[in-house]
Amino acid sequence: MSAAAQTSVNLLDFDPAGLAAWIEAAGEKPFRARQLSRWVHQRYAADFGAMTDLAKSARATLEARARIAGPAVIRDSTAQDGTRKWLLDAGAGNAVEAVYIPEDDRGTLCISSQAGCALDCAFCSTGKGGFNRNLTTAEIVGQLWHANRTLLAEDANEGADAPWVAAGRAPVTNVVMMGMGEPLANFEPVVRALKLFVDDNAYGLSRRRVTLSTSGIVPAIDRLAREAPVALAVSLHAPNDALRDRLVPINRVHPLATLLAACVRYLDHAPRDFVTFEYVMLDGVNDQREHAEQLVRLVRNVPCKLNLIPFNPFPGSEFTTSPRERIRAFQAVLQHAGIVATIRKTRGDDIDAACGQLAGQVHNRVKRPLASRVVPIIAHSPLHLRPHLRHHQPH
Ligand code: SAH
Ligand code: SF4
Repeated sequence: MSAAAQTSVNLLDFDPAGLAAWIEAAGEKPFRARQLSRWVHQRYAADFGAMTDLAKSARATLEARARIAGPAVIRDSTAQDGTRKWLLDAGAGNAVEAVYIPEDDRGTLCISSQAGCALDCAFCSTGKGGFNRNLTTAEIVGQLWHANRTLLAEDANEGADAPWVAAGRAPVTNVVMMGMGEPLANFEPVVRALKLFVDDNAYGLSRRRVTLSTSGIVPAIDRLAREAPVALAVSLHAPNDALRDRLVPINRVHPLATLLAACVRYLDHAPRDFVTFEYVMLDGVNDQREHAEQLVRLVRNVPCKLNLIPFNPFPGSEFTTSPRERIRAFQAVLQHAGIVATIRKTRGDDIDAACGQLAGQVHNRVKRPLASRVVPIIAHSPLHLRPHLRHHQPH
């Protein structure tokens, strides 16, 4: 990389307002920002040479001051069911994963927000690896930019694949912030990315097609409602505080009653009239009839849907998945009480791309228990998790 490239800005780092301000400061007309945004986020340009509708002088300014730098791909794997996983370089020996899940009528991209996670949920592979660093906006947006760009190029070569792509839409129709990391613990970069996902001159997704999943950082849920109210999924996983304290340690800071009240407040701003509660099914831990009944009482006053997630094992995980019939029985209790409850289809597990299996593994990591160290840290400053929980083994 040249010295100029190192000092230049990466255009993937700007949200729409940021790009407009930067263009103006560079002495260009404001409408250039919209033009440029469409080149970058709708045509996935990686350099300025192709931008023929920009004046030569404008292109020269851009070339001198800016770059469009997507992620570096370390590994690209495709599962038997078509699920595709990219392992992406996140600097200093870190890597994150983005997962594309094609279905009949949509293509969903599962995006990571942090390399690792400090919240240390008991059943999560990402959490077990500890926290490494927050991703920048460019690294978050770059996952969508890269997926669309790659899938589109392949589609053009191999003939139209997905029907919506043949009809001129981008390969990724839905985004879920459900990859590695806790998105609300990396708030500003995530919100900038969300703003791009829904901007008409960028990815143009409707707010209903962008879902953020959080383990429940309550003040940040309220902030999200004000700044980028996309669809909300909340990782519940337990119907009472005692059990949730164990499974989702952030519950010790923001317990269930506080969390559910935040969900209700969020609905005033949400693009959908319900919150999705995720509930991972752990054999003998949270999957008994009494848990289902308690859950019914807990969410009675929250417009919601329940998404039951069969636990996906990973090396060293201490839980097993609830048997299918128990998951069905749990679902039946919820449905009987009038709650919409679905069972999440497991996708991409043969390439470790299923929920909770994303570890961003480049090297083997040292495994050691984190719970005792993480909780005091998050109790202090849940929004400013510090990057001193690195667990990368030097090779
Ligand atoms: N940090 C956010 C989003 C990332 S995890 C959150 O916790 O919500 C996305 C979903 O996968 C969450 O509901 C999470 O609890 C769940 N999950 C984590 N580990 C899992 C595993 N091993 N099996 C199944 N689901 C898991
Ligand atoms: Fe972090 Fe979410 Fe995993 Fe919990 S489930 S450790 S919040 S990524």
